[in-house]
Amino acid sequence: MKFLLLLLVVAFAIWLLKTKGRAVPPPAGRQAPPKAPQPAAQMLACAHCGLHVPQVDSLQDAAGRTYCSGAHRQAGPR
Ligand SMILES: [Zn+2]
Repeated sequence: MKFLLLLLVVAFAIWLLKTKGRAVPPPAGRQAPPKAPQPAAQMLACAHCGLHVPQVDSLQDAAGRTYCSGAHRQAGPR
């Protein structure tokens, strides 16, 4: 009878560890990666030729329009 009780306690402890291991890490792992790539992947269209350039590589004029190059910024919007 004692052996059966011990087996039951051990089985419950293993089940508890398995359910805790499944429940806690996946939400943290799934929520973090999608947030990081979004700002890096933001593309803006050139106001002159319509070419899409990454926000970090784009140029802006005084009015806040986005351009792909200095030449198109000088040429202005079309
Ligand atoms: Zn352009």
